[in-house]
Amino acid sequence: MQTVTHFLVTAFAKQQAQRRGVLTRPVQTPALLLGAVLPDIPFTLLSLGYGLYYWWLGSTPTGESPMVYMHFTLFFEDPLWIISHNVFHSLVINTLLLALGWRGMRRGWRWGPLLFWLAVGTQFHTLIDIVTHHSDGPLLFFPLNWSYRFPAPISYWEPDYYGPVVIIVENVINVLISGYFLTHWWRRRTEAN
Ligand SMILES: [Zn+2]
Repeated sequence: MQTVTHFLVTAFAKQQAQRRGVLTRPVQTPALLLGAVLPDIPFTLLSLGYGLYYWWLGSTPTGESPMVYMHFTLFFEDPLWIISHNVFHSLVINTLLLALGWRGMRRGWRWGPLLFWLAVGTQFHTLIDIVTHHSDGPLLFFPLNWSYRFPAPISYWEPDYYGPVVIIVENVINVLISGYFLTHWWRRRTEAN
């Protein structure tokens, strides 16, 4: 899914869980929201850096457009791209981070809750990506396995897997969540005055 969707859905899920009293521990909101977007940041930076480089050079090694070369060749074959993109998109790594954060939290270490909630964010992001990507989903068991991706029956961008419909649903969800938060903010503001 789009990075902004991860941010909004995580913020909404957290707010709803708190409202309904599901959470028994205080949430480290900045860590959670950072975790919601962190898995996509390396890919964004690589796309920007490589994109500018190829644009400046005027061509890619295969002659394809930079977008196609980056997202269909480097993404699947270049170790730097594979590692950067899958470190925080891995169920294995995120589960380890969750366990480490949980342990730190139980022992009263200061970084424990921060790591725990960051890992909740990255794991939630990964679970959403697993069910919304067909060909280019996360490498679930990275770094133990460098090839297995779950082929979800839908994709938020591939036309063969309902991409045009899924992206509309996704954007509607984003508008609804944004509207919900804006209404809440406005209500709080007017009540305070
Ligand atoms: Zn992602």
